[in-house]
Amino acid sequence: MNVYFLTFGCKVNLYETENMKQLFSEAGYTVSAEETSADIFAVNSCTVTGTGDKKLKKELRRLRRSYPNSVIVLTGCFPQAFSEEAEKIPEADIVTGTKNRAELPSLVESFIRERSHIVSVCPYTRKEKFEDMCNTRYENNTRAFLKIQDGCGMFCTYCIIPYSRGGFRSKPIEDIIAETKGFAEAGYKEIVLVGINLSFYGVDFGKRLADAVEAVCGVEGIERVRLSSIEPETITEEDVKRLSKLEKLCPHFHLSLQSGCDKTLKAMNRRYLTADYEKLVNNLRNNFKNCSITTDIIVGFPDETEEDFRQSLEFAEKIGFARSHIFPYSKRSGTPAAEMENQVPEEIKHRRAAEMAASMDASTRKFMQSQVGAVFPVLFEREKSDGFPHGYTPNYTPVKILTKYSNKSLRNSVFYVKIVSAEKDHCVGKLIINN
Ligand code: SF4
Repeated sequence: MNVYFLTFGCKVNLYETENMKQLFSEAGYTVSAEETSADIFAVNSCTVTGTGDKKLKKELRRLRRSYPNSVIVLTGCFPQAFSEEAEKIPEADIVTGTKNRAELPSLVESFIRERSHIVSVCPYTRKEKFEDMCNTRYENNTRAFLKIQDGCGMFCTYCIIPYSRGGFRSKPIEDIIAETKGFAEAGYKEIVLVGINLSFYGVDFGKRLADAVEAVCGVEGIERVRLSSIEPETITEEDVKRLSKLEKLCPHFHLSLQSGCDKTLKAMNRRYLTADYEKLVNNLRNNFKNCSITTDIIVGFPDETEEDFRQSLEFAEKIGFARSHIFPYSKRSGTPAAEMENQVPEEIKHRRAAEMAASMDASTRKFMQSQVGAVFPVLFEREKSDGFPHGYTPNYTPVKILTKYSNKSLRNSVFYVKIVSAEKDHCVGKLIINN
């Protein structure tokens, strides 16, 4: 039987979908590349925003309409956080959360045998240990995601994740090393460390994120290591010092800001102020050459006044982000912020989001311009549909080469490139060393 996978949400979900594919293959199913040949749909959901839930339900309705006889499995964060709502979704034959997903193939078998609706969502006790669904298998590619951490216990007032993912838990260092070696043997050159709250890696057994990064950098064959999103409050000066000694660690840090206004940060239950954030950014910039800082910003959080928004905008402009994701605050039921007074009207949120996005686009252009003239080792990826090679510098600047290499793909190779010009969201480069 053929299974087709759909993933909503973040890189952790992408990693977990890969695990699920492997799980089903090992159980004798075929992973389908086309939805039209699928007998089973496995939908790995996200529930970070209410808008995302609506899209998920729409997609489930579309699948059921288009493939009335298929088996639909709904798994991931949405059913974990809202199990009662999820089990009432008529399109889903099997509903599971983010826990115990190793059972999925056997749940599908029971459903096929008995044709009766299955709900298997196990609540978190906050005492769980880190678990993967299976051992990762490797196929040749350029960049591999490696999930080393799960869960969060910080309870930011807008965020549902602590309810959908349970408490902090981390992958043991020896398992990280073994998995990284597997990636290296499969030909991967770059590893991206991902987690629900990566910065809290090791808090459950007395280790720090720097320990995991050092371990991954120590694996022969891996040339680059990247960190996905990190939280500012957990990274100490000592951590920055340790990390800056690792040559393979890429100087790109996605530091979630969320707001550049201290009053709003407190209302969000974030545990840093803008001054702490700025200090960390300066520290990173002083320790990592040509370092890029990217971020996420929410606008229109409850009680955000025009003055608060201006403060947030000015702070973001002062930092000078290389790239930013701007989100108008979206009410997430089940979180404290959804119940707060002074919710900001939608039109004001959208106006502020557009203003913040325009300003952050200008920062991105400025950053791209600042790279012109520099020389970087670029790790090339699959050619895009335009046929031009493209890749990323260590500081995650997207680079395009305006020469086609018809009989030689640059994919998964590192070449030195001189940046010759900057576009809105990427740089244009010239190959200067042909290995
Ligand atoms: S730190 Fe805050 S925003 Fe990030 S996952 Fe935890 S609760 Fe959510």
